[in-house]
Parts: sequence; C-alpha cells; structure tokens
Amino acid sequence: MNLIYLIEQSLLEKEEKRKIGKEISGEHWPSSASLKIGDKTEGECLLALYRKKTGVQETNPFSPDTLQKFAWGNLFHDWISDLLEKECLKGNIKSVEKEVNFKLKEPRLQNLISGRIDMILNGKIGLEIKSSFGRFFFSKEGLLSAGPKISYLTQTLLYLKAKPELEYFILLFLARDIGFKVAYNVYREEDYIRTEYFEKGEKKTKRYEFIAYDKIVERWVELEMCIAEKKEPPPDFKFRSKWPCSGCLYFNMCYPEKKKTEAKGRFDFGQQE
Ligand code: SF4
Repeated sequence: MNLIYLIEQSLLEKEEKRKIGKEISGEHWPSSASLKIGDKTEGECLLALYRKKTGVQETNPFSPDTLQKFAWGNLFHDWISDLLEKECLKGNIKSVEKEVNFKLKEPRLQNLISGRIDMILNGKIGLEIKSSFGRFFFSKEGLLSAGPKISYLTQTLLYLKAKPELEYFILLFLARDIGFKVAYNVYREEDYIRTEYFEKGEKKTKRYEFIAYDKIVERWVELEMCIAEKKEPPPDFKFRSKWPCSGCLYFNMCYPEKKKTEAKGRFDFGQQE
C-alpha cells in the first residue's frame, strides 16, 4: 500500500472540493479583503483575485506539502474547539457556537460579503484561531514586535461589522512547535479598530485608524468594476520578497522569466497497489 500517495490524493481532492464554487460565486469573503495604505497594498492582490473570480486556471496550485501544512492548522483549530466545548460542559463558558456563517449586504457592492467565524463564545465574543511556528512570533517583524498581520485585522473588522451583537473579538495565536500562546482582543472604534493584549501583566493598546471598513469596500468596488469591464487590474505587488508573489497561485503568469516548476506531490505513481 502506498500510504503517501493516498494521503496526498486525499489532500488534493479536499482542496478541489473546497475551491468548487467559492472563487466564482462572486461573493466577497473576508480573507480576500485588502486596503491601500498610501501606495502600499495590504492584503490580497486585486489581480490574483480577478483571476480567481473569472476562473483563470492557476499556474501554481498548492502542492500536497502546502496542503498538509494547512491541515495541521485545522488540527489546532479542532483541538481548541473541543477544549472550549468541555469548558462549556463544566460551566466555565455559557455557550460555544462553532463555524458561524454570515452574509453582509453592502450597498456599494453588487455581491454580498460572505464569511464564517470560527467560534462565538457566550453569544457576544468572537474567536478566530491562528497557528504558526515560534520563529514567526519572535522574529524582528513577528507577531510580538509588529502585532497581528494587517490582513488578520481587516478580516476581524469585517466580522465585527457583520455581527454588531459581538462586543469584541479574540484573535488567539498558538505556536505549533514551542507551546507559546497569546491572545489579542480586537474592539470596534467607530469604523476602525483597536487591539489590546497583555505582556508580562501589563496591558498594551494599539489603535489602527488606517484599517477602515470603507477602504476595504473601495477595493472590492474596484474589483467588481474590473470584472464587469473584463479588464485586468494592475498587479498590487512586485516580486521582491517571499510574500506574497512567490506564494501566489498565479506566480508563473506574472513572472514567466522566473517560472517555477510545477509543484507535484512526492509520491511514486508506480508503487500504487
Ligand atoms: S504573482 Fe504577485 S502580482 Fe501577480 S497576481 Fe500574484 S500576488 Fe499579484
């Protein structure tokens, strides 16, 4: 039995199912949000999004190795979810709602904003779980010195907008390798957000006035316009560092001169039984 082949096939099949209908549904999902800060784009590249939404074939689909890393993240998610449900049974938490779907109508957009919140606790606290490796937390530009990524905060702002009944949101970060964990509380401040977290018992607060709901909507308005006019938007990024272009599903299309070889699984088709 070629177990590696079975695992990789299973990962690829799951990914295919996940993609069907998602990109071309037209709806805007919070993980695809972006905004401009001066000339700089934070979040999803509009060109990549345009290609996804118009069904352009990916030139660099996720490899089974990458999909395995995503699956690992899901395990951490399930672990916290089980743990909180047990706390609920013990009476330490009143209620746990899992994978809460929402749709938000924005008058400036043709399509709905649609998303799923990891968990809602006690009916009024949103929870989003992120897991990564210790080096991403403690590096110079990592979580502890730079704070949560702007893309996570734009996502959270949309959740708070879609669910006005939520008092605040918790972004829970778990390090998969060293057991470190840290939670950021994210609050609404009119149309932007503020974070709070504790470091060595001391409360730290940061305001993000540049992360505004209107700026996110502006980008989706531009995307809808490009799709209606069948006109590709200009690329938001240039290949300089590892992120985001080198991880993009359309890397070879933008950089044919740096073309990467097709990402394949490492299983041996010849050993299937
Ligand atoms: S490779 Fe870079 S510029 Fe091109 S679509 Fe992807 S993220 Fe955008």
